[in-house]
Amino acid sequence: MKLLIVEDESLLREDMSGYLTERGFDCETAADYREGYRRITESKYDIIVLDITLPGGTGIDLLRKLRTSSLSTAVLILSAKDSLPDKMKGFGLGADDYLTKPFYMEELTARLNAILRRRVTPVRQVTRFDGLEIDVDARSVSFQQKPITLTKKEFELLLFFIDNAGRVVSKRAIVEHLWGDEFGGSDSMDTIYVHTMNLRKKLIAHTGTDYIKTVYGTGYKWSNQ
Ligand code: CA
Repeated sequence: MKLLIVEDESLLREDMSGYLTERGFDCETAADYREGYRRITESKYDIIVLDITLPGGTGIDLLRKLRTSSLSTAVLILSAKDSLPDKMKGFGLGADDYLTKPFYMEELTARLNAILRRRVTPVRQVTRFDGLEIDVDARSVSFQQKPITLTKKEFELLLFFIDNAGRVVSKRAIVEHLWGDEFGGSDSMDTIYVHTMNLRKKLIAHTGTDYIKTVYGTGYKWSNQ
């Protein structure tokens, strides 16, 4: 995994670089905006750890520049303070995650690995559960060969539930899965509720089984019992 660290605090930069190199990341570093800009325009990275406040510009500006050339590079933003406007701007521009300083190296590594896992989840072509058949490439669902029409979000939700069959999934986990990492505000929770109820109704209508169980105060659980 090719990783770029853009951070002007030299001790922190070297700490991160040393720690992540030991854990198998191929690390490059930049100490200011200009160097960061040069590196992202000259090379392609799997993931970038991006500080917000930099000499010569901001991490947000770099992220904006990056998104005009590459959508596939994952970005984790670092900030000295828990600044909500920075966080919102970062997510609005497609940052994958956000970490507030100070943090533990273990936490940084866990977050980076989580981002990478989300990005490289292998896509299976056909998933089956009871008589349900989900064709991932064709994005179609059928029950005993009869097609079920789902919206894009309902389809993604169904795959997520089946991948986590038998486990309780929190609404927060669903938001993160369906929308990347968003704010988890009441809007997205309401939206999750609506998508989940619509999917649930369609599945009951077609299969006669209520697969999506509400776990009060927690989330949902996919089960055929
Ligand atoms: Ca800084």
